Amino acid sequence: MAQDFSQLDKPIQFLKGVGPKRSETFGRMGIVTARDLLYHVPRRYDDASTIQPLGDLDVGMDGTAVGRVRSKGIIPTRSGFRIFQAVLEDDSGMITCAWPGQPWLDRRIRKGDLLLVTGPVKFFHGRQLQPREFTLLGREDEEEEEGSLGTIFVSYPASEEMPQWVLRRVFRKNLDWLLKQVQSEEYLSQHEIGELGLISLAAALEALHRPISLSQVEAGRKRLAFDELFFLQLVQAQVRFQQTEAQPGIAFTRTNELIKPLHSSLPFDLTGAQARVLREIYSDMSSDLRMRRLLQGDVGSGKTVVALFAMLLALEGDHQAVLMAPTEILAEQHARKIGDMLAPLGIELLLLTGSMTPGQKAEAHAALADGSAQVAVGTHALIQESVDFRRLGLVVVDEQHRFGVRQRMVLGEHESRPDVLVMSATPIPRSMAMALYGDLDLSILDELPPGRKPVETRLLTPDQRSKVYAFVEEEIEKGRQAYMVYPLVDESEKVDLLSATEEFRRLSEEVFADRKVGLLHGQLSGKEKDGIMRSFLAKEIDLLVATTVIEVGIDVPNATVMIIEHAERFGLSQLHQLRGRVGRGADQSTCILISQAGDLARERLKIFQGTADGFEIARADLQIRGQGDLFGSQQHGKDPILRFADLSRDEGLLREAQSRARGLVADDPDLQAPGNSQLSALLEARHREKLQMFGVG
Ligand code: ADP
Ligand code: MG
Repeated sequence: MAQDFSQLDKPIQFLKGVGPKRSETFGRMGIVTARDLLYHVPRRYDDASTIQPLGDLDVGMDGTAVGRVRSKGIIPTRSGFRIFQAVLEDDSGMITCAWPGQPWLDRRIRKGDLLLVTGPVKFFHGRQLQPREFTLLGREDEEEEEGSLGTIFVSYPASEEMPQWVLRRVFRKNLDWLLKQVQSEEYLSQHEIGELGLISLAAALEALHRPISLSQVEAGRKRLAFDELFFLQLVQAQVRFQQTEAQPGIAFTRTNELIKPLHSSLPFDLTGAQARVLREIYSDMSSDLRMRRLLQGDVGSGKTVVALFAMLLALEGDHQAVLMAPTEILAEQHARKIGDMLAPLGIELLLLTGSMTPGQKAEAHAALADGSAQVAVGTHALIQESVDFRRLGLVVVDEQHRFGVRQRMVLGEHESRPDVLVMSATPIPRSMAMALYGDLDLSILDELPPGRKPVETRLLTPDQRSKVYAFVEEEIEKGRQAYMVYPLVDESEKVDLLSATEEFRRLSEEVFADRKVGLLHGQLSGKEKDGIMRSFLAKEIDLLVATTVIEVGIDVPNATVMIIEHAERFGLSQLHQLRGRVGRGADQSTCILISQAGDLARERLKIFQGTADGFEIARADLQIRGQGDLFGSQQHGKDPILRFADLSRDEGLLREAQSRARGLVADDPDLQAPGNSQLSALLEARHREKLQMFGVG
C-alpha cells in the first residue's frame, strides 16, 4: 500500500535542479521529501490584471507593478541613513523603487532581476514607489522561458538562502512530474469529487502552484482544506466509534420518578435551549449507544441544571452518577448548588475531595461501592483513583480548562462504560468545536435564562485610573468586592509575577491602604490559589489583584467590579471569561477595561463592549485573531494541523467532512474493506501525527 506513494516520499535531492547543497537548504525549511515540496504552496497571489504599467503609476496611488531592474545602488542620506534604490523598467516606462534603511538588499537584488512590487507611490525627486512587499520573479541569466509566468504571479514562502526565483525554477522543472505522482493519492472518486463540489487533488495542487485565475486558487485551497478536515475527522470518527459504538453502553430507562419532581420543585421553567439540549442528552442516554457529548454554554446559561436532569435519568435507570470538577473549590461549589436542588427530592449528595480525612474518604468509598451513594461530586480523583462503584452510569465532567485530547480518552476507560457528558463554559464557534472535539457530539446552550442584569462594560484610558479607584472604593464601601486583573507581560512567568506583585504592593500600601487586598498569581500552588479564592469568597479580601489565573467557574456573587488593565493584550474570549466573574448576584456589576490602545485595538474592544453573547464574541475572536494554534500542545509535528482550512469560513466543508468520515467508519470501522484500503494506507502514511494525537493506531 504505502509503496504506492513512495515516489513522493523520496528525498527532495533526487528532483531536477536540486543538488546536495540545495536539499540541505530545503531541509532547513522543513522540506525533506518531494511531497513536502509539492505542498510548499505560494503564500501570495497577484492577479496580472491588477498589475499596473509603470508609466501609469501616479503619486498618491498604491501600486502593484512588474519591472526589470535597470540600475540600482545605495543612496546615503545626510543623516547617515542608507536607502537602497532600484530603477524598474517595463514597456510603458520606468520608476524608482526605494527601500529606506535596507541597504543589504543591494546584495540580494541584481541588475536584470524581474521584480513584482507593491506599495505607495510618493513624490521624491520624481515618482518613487516604496515597496511594502516585493517578489523576485526571475533572474535574467537563470530564466528559461519567461513566458511561463502566466497571468497570476505567485510568491512562495522563501528565504535569503532559498530565494523566490530558485523555488520557481525548481517548480518549473518538477511540477508536472509531482502532479502526476500525486494522482495516486486521490482517494475520492470522480463522482464524489463532483458531489462535494471540489476539484481533484492534482488539479488543486496545480491550481495553487500554476493558477490561471484567483478563483482557481480558492478552489485549490478548498480541496486541500477538505483533505485536512476529512482526515482529522476520520481519526476522530474512529475514536468515537471505539468509545461509543464498538461495544454497547447503557440504555437508561426513563420513569420520570425523579425528573418530574425536579421540574416541579425548580422555581423556573427551562429555557428553550435547555429543553432542546436535554432532549439530545436523553436520546443518547436512552439508546444503548454510549453517550460522549460536549455541552457548551456560556457562564450562567444553566449547564448545572441540565447536568442534574441527566444525572436523575441515570438514577431512574438504577445507576449512579458523578460530577467531576477541576478543583476542590469548584467541586464544593457544585456540591452546594446541586445538593440544594436534590434536597426536595430526598436524594443525598456525596462530596469526595482530596482534602477529606482518610476516615471520611473510606466512608465515601464504601457508600459508592455499595450503592448507597447515588450522586457524587468531586475532583478528578473521583474516578481516577481505584474507586469502586456499584453501578456507575453517568460521568459529568466540568471541563473548566479544556482537557487535552488524550485526557479525554481516559474518561472513556472506566470498565462500566458509563455515558460521558463534558461541560465547557468557554464558548467557541461551532466549527472550532467540531474540529477540536470531532470525536464528541455537540450540544450548545445558546440562550441565557431571562431576567439577567447585563454587566455594564466601560472602556477607559490609563489617565482615568484615579476615577476607577474612586469607583472601586465606593463599591467596597457598599460592602462589595472587586477584581483587578493584569495580563501576562510576556511569556515569562517571572515578569508576569513582577508586574502583578508591584501593582499589588502599590495598591495595598498606597491606594487601598485601608482595605484588604489579596494577590493571586500563576506561581502559587493549586492549594494556595484555592486558599485565596476561599478568603475572597468569605469576604476576607475586598480587592483581589490577579493575573489571568482566576478560576473560570468561580462564583462570588458579591463581587461586582472587574477591572482589566492593558485590556488590549487579551483576546476577546478571554475578556469575556473575565467579565463573567462578575454579574452573578442581584447587584448591578461593572467591567472596566483600561487601555491605551490605538484605533484598531479599540475597535476590537468595542465589539466586546457591545455584546454579552459569548458565542458571538468567540466568532469575532476567530475572525480577528485566526485559529492560531488550535490544537496547542497536543501537536508535536512541525506543521499546523490545519494549514488550508479556515474555520471562520469553512464550516460547511467541515460538516461535510465530518458526516462522510463518520459514515465511512460506521460502515467499515477499521477501514479494511477493499474499497477503503487506499484511504487507510494514506491515513497511516500521511496522517500518523493525527492518529497519535488522538491515541489511535
Ligand atoms: P452555568 O453552570 O451554565 O454557569 P448554572 O447552571 O449555574 O449556570 O445556572 C446559573 C444560575 O441560573 C443558577 O442560579 C440557576 O439556578 C439559574 N438558572 C438555570 N436555569 C434557569 C432557567 N431556565 N431560568 C431561570 N434561572 C435559571
Ligand atoms: Mg446510552
